[in-house]
Formats: sequence, structure tokens, C-alpha cells
Amino acid sequence: MYIEEPARRVRVCGNYDVVVAGGGIAGIAAAIAAARGGASVCLLEKESALGGLATLGVVTVWLPLCDGRGHQVIGGLGEELLRLSVADLREDRTGSRWSRVPDCWLPGGDKEERQHKRYIASFNPTAYLLALERLLAETGVALLYDTRVCSVRREDSRVTHLVVENKGGRAAIGCSVVVDATGDADVCHLAREATESLDTNVLAGWFYALQGGDLHLQMLTHAFSPVAGREGAEQPFFRGDDGDQVTRQIMGSRELIRQRLDRLREQRPHEDVQPVLVPTIACLRMTRRLVGATTLQGSHVHAWADDAIGLSGDWRKPGPVYAIPWGTLCGVHNRNLLAAGRCISADASVWDVTRVIPPCAVTGEAAGTGAAMAARTTSGDLRQLPVSALQHRLEAQGVLLDRALVEAP
Ligand SMILES: Cc1cc2nc3c(=O)[nH]c(=O)nc-3n(C[C@H](O)[C@H](O)[C@H](O)COP(=O)(O)OP(=O)(O)OC[C@H]3O[C@@H](n4cnc5c(N)ncnc54)[C@H](O)[C@@H]3O)c2cc1C
Repeated sequence: MYIEEPARRVRVCGNYDVVVAGGGIAGIAAAIAAARGGASVCLLEKESALGGLATLGVVTVWLPLCDGRGHQVIGGLGEELLRLSVADLREDRTGSRWSRVPDCWLPGGDKEERQHKRYIASFNPTAYLLALERLLAETGVALLYDTRVCSVRREDSRVTHLVVENKGGRAAIGCSVVVDATGDADVCHLAREATESLDTNVLAGWFYALQGGDLHLQMLTHAFSPVAGREGAEQPFFRGDDGDQVTRQIMGSRELIRQRLDRLREQRPHEDVQPVLVPTIACLRMTRRLVGATTLQGSHVHAWADDAIGLSGDWRKPGPVYAIPWGTLCGVHNRNLLAAGRCISADASVWDVTRVIPPCAVTGEAAGTGAAMAARTTSGDLRQLPVSALQHRLEAQGVLLDRALVEAP
């Protein structure tokens, strides 16, 4: 059964060069890059803190910026945001697993050691969300919390406005370029781009507990495979684009946490075991993504792309390096729409690589930089933006775009 919603006038509450939907790591990188590029920027976040899965989802490991063979493949904002995540950490902590950047990856560090130790960091999510908010405020980005993108207005193959809802009701925000960093390709879906969803998500809930006075990170998750189907599986799987399934995944994950706490209390009858921080957003890995102008595939490993806007290693094993094409960010039916982060155009064979924090920062930085350039030079039309100019700009920002890093076996 359906009902008809009456048409209504919606107040326009602002106009920006670049509007970024979603304040996870990708959206933060996009907003900062666009603001540093001289654009007026608005960042919309449905929760009340920045960081998305990395902070509110308690997913506290910045996976590697290197290829596992001693070469750094991610610089720019990816490196800046990784360093920020542990900037206030004075010492590594075993129980909570907070750990600073390995010495060998600091300036002048031992190059030999880099071949065995990957460039990672593990952070305190509360410290990180506070630091991210300060950084964003310093860049002059207009931030709207508690604001969900729920519709778009389109005209002539462009998104002219994002329609949002918050405590002030429903309002529209005008944009020259829009970046979809919702993780779930919400804007792409609303703007009639083709999207693809996966139902392979499992129960997962990392959380912190006080155990005998020490803070411990518990990393709870059911076995996850990016391509496994439901056939014959004993554990439940979930989609990220279905309200009921998202709720069941959240409640099931919290039940796992309760069971783990019960077990810890049984095992340590003399210790006070207390949960301190649990995820407050759905911990879904791969939900819905754009089917963009180009789709990255696993077979593209070690293959250079002429429109590369950044690189990524593979967190699962040393060796593989991918060049991420600009086309994986670009919408097909909208001239001024980019995806960034978890929801870029990557098929199931490589989504498990592009969805993690470092490549999310890479695609966020590229999207924000390209969006600002297009707003300034092509009235927001991304198809008119010369990719070579974007690449030069990204390299000037410290993004690594070295063909030799990709093609080396
Ligand atoms: C259990 C689990 C373990 C993981 N482990 C690791 C790990 O160890 N290391 C690692 O690097 N990665 C890990 N990941 C993956 C990684 O955390 C995320 O994929 C990455 O942080 C995604 O960043 P993002 O910015 O693209 O999206 P998200 O972090 O999902 O951010 C999207 C943001 O958009 C907001 N949003 C969504 N829809 C709307 C809307 N309609 N309007 C306004 N705002 C909206 C959300 O509230 C959120 O803040 C893990 C993921 C899971 C689930």
C-alpha cells in the first residue's frame, strides 16, 4: 500500500559551492580539501559527531598507508588525518590497543624496517572526534549536525539542491557540486544514479570495557566475506539499504556485546567489568555503492589508470597496489555529483579494499579538490574538468600518484 505525499514549498537555507553529505572520514577529507581549495563548503551529518564508522562505530584502526613492501602509497590528507588520530597519544596502550605511528614511518625512519612494519595507527575514538571537529572548524566549513539528506532536486542532469531534515524541519541547500560521502550512496540513489547493494554484512560491534581498572578494546564480529552469499550460511546477513535489516543488525550486534560482557564477568568474578563505549551507528561494511563512470575491479591491481586520483595498498596482504580512477567517483546521470569513501564505484572483488579508512580519505580528498575546482572553473560541470589539472593539484597537496608504485610487481 502507498500514500501520496502532498507537494510542498521548501525553504532554501543556504547556497554553497560544494555540499558534502556525510561526515565520516571521506566526507571530512572532502570538506577540508574543498575548503582549502577556496570553495564555500557545507558538510551535512545526520549524527552529532564527526568520524562516522571510525569514531561512532568504534572502528579504531587506521589501516596501512603503505604497500607492505616498504613503500608509502598514501600521502596528502590521508596521512594528515592518520597523524591527527594519534596526535595526543603519549604512549602505546596494550588493553585499548591505542598505538602511535611506528618509528620507522616517522621522518628519517629506518627504511629497511618499513618492509616489515606497516604504516598504521590505532586511536582513541573520543579524542579523534574532538580533534576532527576542531580541524573542520579551523578550515571554515559550515557544519550541520543532526541533519539528514532525504531528497534532492534535479534540473538538466544536475543536482541543484539537497533537501534535508533536522530540528528546524525540512529545508533545501543549493550546491554547485555535491559529494556523496554517506557511505551508503544515499545521494546517488536519490539522484537516480545506478547503484548496487550487497547483503553480505554480518553482526559486528567493537567496544571498550573497563576490566579490573584497565580499558580494553573488544573486537567482536562474525566471520565476514565480501562475496559470500546467504546460501547455507548459519549466521545472519544484512543489507544496509533496508530500515528493518539495519535495526536488526544493530540490535543483534548489541546482543553479541551483552553476551561477551556476561562471559567476561563469569571468567573474572572478582573484577568489575563495565562497558564504556559501544557503537552508536550501524557497523555495516559494504552497503550500497555508486555504479559510476568507471568501476574498479580486483583485476586492476598493479594497472595504472590515466585518470588516477590516488593509490591504495591492500590491507589484507603485502604487495598489491591499486590506482583509483577519477571515473569511480563520477556519477553518470548527474554532471555535478561525486561519490567518496565506502560508496565509490568498486565491484565486490575489490570493495573490501576501497571501503577501509585510508582509501576513503584518498577518494574524499580527490572529490573535495575536484569539486572546488569545478565550482570555480566549470560552473560545477565535472565533465569539463581536465583530470590532468586535478592530478597536478592533488600532487601539490602531497597525494602520491606515482605510476612506478602501482606497476611494481
Ligand atoms: C566492523 C567493522 C570493522 C572495520 N574495521 C576497519 C579497520 O580496522 N580499519 C579500517 O581502516 N576500516 C575498517 N572498517 C571500515 C571503515 O571503518 C569504514 O568503511 C570507513 O570508515 C568508511 O568511511 P566513510 O567516510 O566512507 O563512511 P562512514 O564512516 O560510514 O561515514 C558516513 C557518514 O555519513 C553519515 N550519513 C549517512 N547517511 C546520511 C544522510 N542521508 N545524511 C547525512 N549524513 C549521512 C553517517 O552518519 C556517517 O557519519 C571496518 C568497518 C566495520 C563495519
